[in-house]
Amino acid sequence: MVVEVEPAAGADLRLALERADIVDAADATEKRQMFHVEHPQCETQSEKRVLLAGPRGFCAGVDRAVTTVELALRRFGAPVYVRHEIVHNKAVVADLAARGAIFVNEVSEIPPGARVIFSAHGISPAVRAAAAERDLQTIDATCPLVTKVHKEVVRFAQQDYNIILIGHQGHEEIEGTAGEAPEHVTIVSDFGDIDRLDFGAQDKLIWLSQTTLSVDDTMALVSKLRSKFPNLQDPPSDDICFATQNRQEAVKAIAALSDVVIVVGSANSSNSVRLVEVAHLAGPPAYRVDNAAEIAPQWLNSAGTVGVTSGASVPDILVSEVVKRLASLGFSQVEEVQTTSESTKFALPRELR
Ligand code: SF4
Repeated sequence: MVVEVEPAAGADLRLALERADIVDAADATEKRQMFHVEHPQCETQSEKRVLLAGPRGFCAGVDRAVTTVELALRRFGAPVYVRHEIVHNKAVVADLAARGAIFVNEVSEIPPGARVIFSAHGISPAVRAAAAERDLQTIDATCPLVTKVHKEVVRFAQQDYNIILIGHQGHEEIEGTAGEAPEHVTIVSDFGDIDRLDFGAQDKLIWLSQTTLSVDDTMALVSKLRSKFPNLQDPPSDDICFATQNRQEAVKAIAALSDVVIVVGSANSSNSVRLVEVAHLAGPPAYRVDNAAEIAPQWLNSAGTVGVTSGASVPDILVSEVVKRLASLGFSQVEEVQTTSESTKFALPRELR
């Protein structure tokens, strides 16, 4: 089937995407070929261009967490201690460190009585107790959507559920969430973990998840869980947050029209790494870079269209630098593909209002 589209201007691209109903990774490759091969006008227009995904970059939770550290430094002066990276992005952490934030792994590294900010990924009650023991002045920058999952764990543990928490072993968010009721929580990261689960038919079971997972991968795990445990209950609402879902839908849309996708984000950023996987599944090769300097020109050798997006912890300046680097490599036409818009804002921690 050939879909007729107008020349690839930003608004028309959005319309074209809607007409082509590009929502599903399974048929994205076919649609990508359709746009590039079967529509000669689009082919001509799309030479050496950059497609920017929207939404991309900072989400409401990251914006709140970074603003929290900036305001705390301004209001209380340096140093301000931050437990773990406030958000998973090297550039953001380096910038805040240069302004006086001291990043530590554990509260035991912080002088008694000092001020500490907890990162966007959340903490377990054990960390909160350790901070209280040291008489630390705490400011909690945990994203409210992570806190929502913590509350679900507490609620379902009180109702004596076995909670299957889908997420990455060792990730700070999962450690914090599981720490709310460790005796009730089993972490599942892959199909092998599901094979090893041993619950009985009478056990009350519910699944919850990390906020930054791939929607498609998570649903595949849930499907396997459900076939093994038909009595498995769903969470009361989505745990994978709106920002993660929006960025995945946006990268699917540009991947369907791109020969290569570049995702700006750090290696320890779960949502950035998921964007690479989602883009790659949609067809083209996809690469993660921390910054523009990491782009290898040979990735673009036979590319006409490069898709660009960024993880939820990435400031837009890093994307601007990537766009500039791509322009220097011949990709000077830039178009934005906006699949949805975001207006959510979270209130700052009360210590800073
Ligand atoms: S990715 Fe989602 S859960 Fe994580 S900080 Fe952003 S809004 Fe919050």
